[in-house]
Amino acid sequence: MSHGVVYPTKGRVHHAVGHDRAMRPEEEYRPATEQEWTEFEEHFDKRKVELGSCGRPYGTDCPHEHACLRCAQLHVNPKMLPRLDELEADLEERRKRAESEGWLGEIEGVDRTLQCLRDKRADALRLTRITREVNLGMPTVAAPR
Ligand code: SF4
Repeated sequence: MSHGVVYPTKGRVHHAVGHDRAMRPEEEYRPATEQEWTEFEEHFDKRKVELGSCGRPYGTDCPHEHACLRCAQLHVNPKMLPRLDELEADLEERRKRAESEGWLGEIEGVDRTLQCLRDKRADALRLTRITREVNLGMPTVAAPR
């Protein structure tokens, strides 16, 4: 007997969604109120952070005290790459000081943040390259003959 997860095919997904809707109370399917829309829009505004955008789920608060550099939910805006360079320089200064003072815990923390920063920079650069490579431009419509 298999206990693996079986994902439904596209047709079955539609069937499952229709089935789930039929099982839910009618009052759940109503237009959003003004307040709900406002909250929805505010959520996306709050996801704009200094270095880009935060991908945390709707309706959730930041669980990491806005330590964005170390967070997997941060998507760096390639426009902010120069800011990453500044932050990297600051961190390297902090690391030097920690080394000279013998603050081993600090060195560990700074190294982790530096690694996250460099990974995020690599992701942002990769995204920039991909965006450039797949830009197909605007299609043109041929004049009628
Ligand atoms: S720490 Fe993570 S979850 Fe929190 S605001 Fe930054 S990117 Fe979003």
